[in-house]
Amino acid sequence: MLKNDLEKRFFPYVIKPGRYAGGEPGTVTKDHEGKTLYCHAYPDKYELGQSYLGLQTLYHIVNSDDRFVCERTYAADIDAEEVLRKENLPLFSLETFTALKDFDALGFTLSFEMVFTNLLNMLDLAGMAIRSSEREDSDPIIMAGGPAAYNPEPLADFVDLFFIGDAEIGLVEMLEIIHELKGKSKREKLLTIVQKVQSVYIPMFYDENRIPIEKSVPKQIFARTVPDLKSEYYPTHPIVPLVETVHEHLSIEIMRGCPQGCRFCQAGSIYRPVRMRPIDELVKLVETQVKNSGTEVVTLLSLSSSDYKEIEDLATIVARKLEKDRVSVTLPSLRPGTISSKLLNAVKRVRRSGMTIAPEAGSERLRAFIRKNFSDETVYDTVSLAYEKGWTTIKLYFMVGLPTETYKDLDGIVNMIQNVYKIGTTTAGRKKVNVTLSPFVPKAHTPFQWDEIVAPEEVLKRINYVKFQFKNSNISFKYPVVETNLLQGLIGRGGRVMGKVLETAYNNGARFDGWNEFFDFERWENALKEHGIDYREMLKPIPFSKDLPWSHIIKGVSSSQLQKERERTSMQLMDFIPQKRDFEVPNTVQVVEFGRTKNKIASKQAFAPTKNKVRFRFGKDSRYKYMGHLDNLRLIERVLRKSKLPIAFSQGFNPSMKLSFGPPLTLGFTSEAEFMDITFDSNFMPEMVETLKESMPEGLTLYDAKIIFSRTKSISALLNRAVYTIDLDKIPNRDLLKEKISTLLAQEKVEVERHKKKGTILLDLRSAIYSLEIKSDKLFLTLGIGEGGYAKPGEILQLLLGDDYDLYMMNFLHRLDLYRQEENGKIIRAMEL
Ligand code: SF4
Repeated sequence: MLKNDLEKRFFPYVIKPGRYAGGEPGTVTKDHEGKTLYCHAYPDKYELGQSYLGLQTLYHIVNSDDRFVCERTYAADIDAEEVLRKENLPLFSLETFTALKDFDALGFTLSFEMVFTNLLNMLDLAGMAIRSSEREDSDPIIMAGGPAAYNPEPLADFVDLFFIGDAEIGLVEMLEIIHELKGKSKREKLLTIVQKVQSVYIPMFYDENRIPIEKSVPKQIFARTVPDLKSEYYPTHPIVPLVETVHEHLSIEIMRGCPQGCRFCQAGSIYRPVRMRPIDELVKLVETQVKNSGTEVVTLLSLSSSDYKEIEDLATIVARKLEKDRVSVTLPSLRPGTISSKLLNAVKRVRRSGMTIAPEAGSERLRAFIRKNFSDETVYDTVSLAYEKGWTTIKLYFMVGLPTETYKDLDGIVNMIQNVYKIGTTTAGRKKVNVTLSPFVPKAHTPFQWDEIVAPEEVLKRINYVKFQFKNSNISFKYPVVETNLLQGLIGRGGRVMGKVLETAYNNGARFDGWNEFFDFERWENALKEHGIDYREMLKPIPFSKDLPWSHIIKGVSSSQLQKERERTSMQLMDFIPQKRDFEVPNTVQVVEFGRTKNKIASKQAFAPTKNKVRFRFGKDSRYKYMGHLDNLRLIERVLRKSKLPIAFSQGFNPSMKLSFGPPLTLGFTSEAEFMDITFDSNFMPEMVETLKESMPEGLTLYDAKIIFSRTKSISALLNRAVYTIDLDKIPNRDLLKEKISTLLAQEKVEVERHKKKGTILLDLRSAIYSLEIKSDKLFLTLGIGEGGYAKPGEILQLLLGDDYDLYMMNFLHRLDLYRQEENGKIIRAMEL
């Protein structure tokens, strides 16, 4: 079975095994018998993919149908790829560790062009040919959708089928056909799909110029739009990641589409029209998902949440309902001018994250040109309000290299950053301005799709022009490797020939191109050269008359309408007379010295009233063995939030639970000796134990609870012994093991090398090895922990089992007990300390 092979030959050797181990609360595991197997594939790291809301909805929709199974897979990180290739193991799904080749269909989400090489790599790691024409009939049908599928041509040689638009209904329609035609050829399935399902593009039925070569296929593909965002699309039990992800929030989609229509914005274009979800449904969904996930932060998500018609009411109702459980509400980037005092009061109720504003351009002229129609003054009013309400960090997003941009526009960015910072100095406390400068990329299906891509060296010059005008440690800058945006533009506007470049770059080693640390432009330059492409030519504006590679994909607005809009923009540029608004810093500037002013928030209570502090012992089974210590802590915090028990919180802007934990557990271990001390806000009642038990997901078990005195030292500081066990049936040569134990215990010194940050040191562990015993088919290791000297189980296993010790460490070790042994030999159990 693949699962066993992975446990032995994969999980022990990858850096973050938790990314590939599945088992998260909210996942669905079904019997495969008689079902059509679909695997949703995200061609990037788990930490990014699991934060993607579309995956949660499609996973839920497909799994709600008894005929289908939906599982998930993500790109194998560089280290994981190496292990899979070395061990000759295939890429697999997280739910049942099924090889991807055994699914009926794989559906990739294409969030942006920089994941395309990962898609090729995932196909290869799955053991399939990367080219569609070379795959077997028995291989899964490879589908793709998402924003970057709106120009499918660069992937036309690799993907069997593209679905354009909202997939909530279309995915099920396609799976129904695959289900009915089980056993038939891939061609027959694809032909039936294209005849019966709207919004499907199957490249093999078209020639290089996108002219149909099969009779029954459409000439143009119209993107699908679901008319209503039905409540049944959204799961009541969202998948809750066990390892830390990029966006830890629970995201609730409140609206799809954006009414603003900024001219550079592809999302604004392809997610049209605006569809808002009813406020009562949203409130109900938030309550249910928060209850079932134990989240700390809820994001009311959409492209422009402040344009949701009842945003103030929605945010206020949700914030009020969640406040008692210390769950906060956030809104993604807000549009200046739509942010009211009431809205900010709602989102600041529990904790504030940074306030994000995206002016995109620094001057009012350029903002009008790109259709971000708000004045500098509106930005400053919003920032003043945010500071007044206690925000201390403002995040500003700008684009560099927009059509018609001049250095005067860049001066506008500089002025705006300075002014936003200056406004912050008018209120007490340290303020920070975090600026992101992103190179502009002309996107398909926008009025700017024909525009020039500014050369990377010029973009960098412009970024530096802005950045080097600041020497203030409270103002920070972030920007990507500029060539990544260049490449996004080349691929995003490319035709099938870019697919050939993609394949060559992939064969040259390109992977995770969206990550600065892995991106290597040289690979791409070589690939472009190899195919005779001078990329500098591709940066130039595209004539309106030229056939565009995505002209067969239609999303509401036709190419001629986009052209008219682009031409209108040029006219507008000439007509535009900027309104003069000189920024003035208010007279009431206070000099802030080290944050000490009259306005400073009241200091914390000098004396915290006595609270009930309770120690719990709990355990975790193999489902959680690939979670690191910090991930364990986050899981427990979620469980506690879900339980709604009256946990005490720290004071301040970002209150956190008053919790402390016992010694961390090594990755790969199961345990029945985990301890946490919780401080409650009210008297502890025995029935709270039951409540906590009910909130724990399967695989976490609560064993014991006891009130402790709040003045005791932390449990980690008091413990000095740990007992681990390992089943002997997992160890091949027991006689040799017994012999090695006797030899080791007979030694006066047990020297090992321990690797520390500052270098490797030689240590004698003998005094920290208290016993190594074989009893009832188990090996028991009692080792020292804490300040008195410690031995790591891995160090001992390496001495006993040789170089294979990793395998045992990651799969079979169990922490049985933690206790304190006094000098006189008296043993005090952790619960008694
Ligand atoms: S407001 Fe944001 S999402 Fe809407 S069109 Fe403008 S940039 Fe796009």
